[in-house]
Amino acid sequence: MAEERIAILGDVHANIDALNAVVEDARAEAVTTFHCVGDVVGYNANPQECVDLIRSICTVVVRGNHDHYCSHNVSLSDFQPNAAIAIEWTRKQINEESVKWLANLPMTKTFFQQSFSIVHATLDMPEQWGYVFDAFDAAAHFTYQPTPLCFHGHTHIPAVFEKGGGGVSRYDAPPAGTRISLSFGRKYFINVGSVGQSRDGIPQASYAIYEPRSRIIEFRRVPYDVEAAAEKVRQAGLPQRLSDRLLVGK
Ligand code: ZN
Repeated sequence: MAEERIAILGDVHANIDALNAVVEDARAEAVTTFHCVGDVVGYNANPQECVDLIRSICTVVVRGNHDHYCSHNVSLSDFQPNAAIAIEWTRKQINEESVKWLANLPMTKTFFQQSFSIVHATLDMPEQWGYVFDAFDAAAHFTYQPTPLCFHGHTHIPAVFEKGGGGVSRYDAPPAGTRISLSFGRKYFINVGSVGQSRDGIPQASYAIYEPRSRIIEFRRVPYDVEAAAEKVRQAGLPQRLSDRLLVGK
């Protein structure tokens, strides 16, 4: 039997052009299963299309902060103004059933058989939506990680956090197409980057493929029509900054 190949993707952020490109790439890469680390909606112009496609392909989806706030009528005072505007807009674009689905997404999921977990932000206090940028941020998370491996998103920066005998280290994600092999006896917290709103200066979609049997992870980058996606954001009347940032990946 062919080895299971699991696509882990997240921070889609209503960018259907980026999501379509990632799904096409994953199919060409013989991916057998899709899971999503959250933030299906928010920022960009096609939330309903992204909810529909994610629901049709993903086995498990965990809740991101944008999924939460787009499906709950609560204050947006914690958000940057542009993000808050996009959340208000998104609330009016998605149908009732999608709102219910987003509102009921689980915060975390552990796949005990394959020894990994997924979460949007961190496992120590997932509902606090903490950002893990450095090794110090990751240390609290690791004490709550039940499996050798956990995938997350939220910062939109693909990265590897590794916990061994000497403490926690952070590495930039290796170049796209590079396969990394997980060592036994260590724990890994892997940020798969963002499908729909890159922030590491590379204006391409980011995701990862995991092979549980051989314990190999491959980071992938997928070019897509960023100009078309940016134009949809402008046409929707969303803030200019949200369309501009797609072009530069920042
Ligand atoms: Zn996000």
